[in-house]
Amino acid sequence: MRIAVIGSGYVGLVSGTCLAHLGHQVICVDLDPERIRTIENATPPFHEPGLSDLLRKVLADGHLMVSANVVRSVAASDITILAVGTPSRDGDIDLSFVRQAAAEVGQGMRENPAYHVVVVKSTVVPGTTDGVVRSIVQEASGRTAAQFGLCMNPEFLREGSAVSDFLEPDRIVIGQSDERAGQRLGEVYQPFNCPKMFTTLQNAEMIKYVSNSLLATLISFSNEIATLCEATPSTNVEEVLDGVHLDRRLSPVLDGRRISPGILSYLRAGCGFGGSCLPKDVAALRMFGRKRGVRPHLLDAVLAVNNGRPSKLVSLAESAVGSLRGLAVAVLGIAFKPGTDDLRESPALALIEVLQSKGACVRAYDPFVVSLPQPDVTVCASVEEALCGCDVAIVASALPELATLDWESLSMAMRSPFVIDGRNALRGVEFPDSVKYVPIGQHC
Ligand code: NAD
Repeated sequence: MRIAVIGSGYVGLVSGTCLAHLGHQVICVDLDPERIRTIENATPPFHEPGLSDLLRKVLADGHLMVSANVVRSVAASDITILAVGTPSRDGDIDLSFVRQAAAEVGQGMRENPAYHVVVVKSTVVPGTTDGVVRSIVQEASGRTAAQFGLCMNPEFLREGSAVSDFLEPDRIVIGQSDERAGQRLGEVYQPFNCPKMFTTLQNAEMIKYVSNSLLATLISFSNEIATLCEATPSTNVEEVLDGVHLDRRLSPVLDGRRISPGILSYLRAGCGFGGSCLPKDVAALRMFGRKRGVRPHLLDAVLAVNNGRPSKLVSLAESAVGSLRGLAVAVLGIAFKPGTDDLRESPALALIEVLQSKGACVRAYDPFVVSLPQPDVTVCASVEEALCGCDVAIVASALPELATLDWESLSMAMRSPFVIDGRNALRGVEFPDSVKYVPIGQHC
C-alpha cells in the first residue's frame, strides 16, 4: 500500500517507519524543513529506542521517503494518515494543525482521482473526524462524501517503547465511515494478529480518550492515597498499594504463578502524570463534556490532584530541611518519564518552577535532556555533577541508574544529604546513615 503520513513527530515518524518496515511504501511528511533534513539523514529528531536502526534500514531499502510537500505526497498515495499534533489551548483541544493538514490532504486528492482513504491518527474529540475533517477534505478535494473514505485509528504507542508498541500492538481500533474505508485500512494492518476492532468513527475517538483518562485516574487516585498515608501514622502508600495489588482481580494467579499486569504500574504514587498526552487529553475530554452540559466531576478531580503534586513534593522537602531559600536543589529526571527526552507537561518542570518560587537554586539531570526552557537552571551532564555540593536531591522520574549509584560516596559530595523520592524509586536502596531519605506517602 502507498501511504502518506502527515506529521513526522513521535507518532507519525514511528508509525511511518514501522509501516515501511512491514513492506508498505511510505512517505513521511512534515512542514518543518529542519526535521525533514534530519530524518533524511537517518537521524530521528527525538530519542526513541530502536527507531534509529529501523529508520536507517527503511530509508536504505527505499520503503520510506521523506517530504515537505503534503499535496504531492497525498497525490502519490492510496491512504493518508494524519498524525499532526492536537495540543491543548486553555484546556480545550486545538485543532488548527488538523484543519490545515486536512485542507492540504484535500488538495492532494484533487490531483489524483483514485479512491483515497483519509485516516485520522491524531487524538481528536468525538465528532471531529466525521465533522471537521470530513467537511474540510470534502471542500478542498471537491469530492462528495461517497467518493473517499474516512477512518479514525487511535494510536496507543508509549514514548520510550514506541517502536515495539507499534510493531506488537495489543489492539488495533479502526473507526470507519463505511466498510470499504475500514477494509482498506485493515489491509495496512493485515500482518498483525492482535484483536482488531471495527467501529464508528466516534467510538474510536472516544476509546482513545477513555483509555488515557483511565490511566490518569489511577495515577491521581494513587497520589490521593499517598497524601492520606502521609497524614496517617504507621501507614506507607507502597505497602498499602502492594496489598491492594494482591487482589486476584488485579493480579490473577495463572498455573500457580501470579501475573502482574502492566496496569498496576499506574496504581502507584508519584509526582504526577505528564507527557504529551495524558494531561491534555484529560483536559480535552473534560471540556468536551462541559460543552455538552455534562459536569465531569471525576476528571476535574483527576486534574486537580495532578496539578497539586509538584507543590506537595516541595512541601515534603520543606518539612525535611526547612526553608529552601538559597539552597542548592538537584532535580533528578527531567523528562516526563525515563527513556525519553520529551519535556512536554513534565511534572519536573512544574516542580522546578515551585522550587524557584521558594528561592532555591536548581540544577537538574536527565540522561536524555541537554537543555531546559528555564534558562536559570543548570543542566548537569551526570548525576554526580548534579549532586556535588547540593543540599537536597529530589527524584522526579524513576531513572533506573539512580538505584545503582554509589550513594556512600555521593552523600559525601552533597552538602547535606537529603533525598526526597518523588517516585519512591529508591525504596530498595541501602542508604548510608548520613543520608536522610524521604519517600512519598509515608507519615513522618
Ligand atoms: P508531535 O508534535 O511530536 O508531531 C507533530 C508533527 O506534525 C510536528 O513535527 C509538526 O511539524 C507536524 N505538522 C503539523 N502540521 C503539519 C502539516 N500541516 N503538515 C505536515 N506536518 C505538520 O506530535 P506527536 O506526539 O507525534 O502527536 C501527534 C498526535 O498523536 C497527537 O494528537 C497526540 O495526542 C497523538 N498521540 C501521541 C502519542 C505520543 O506518545 N506522543 C501517543 C498516542 C497518540
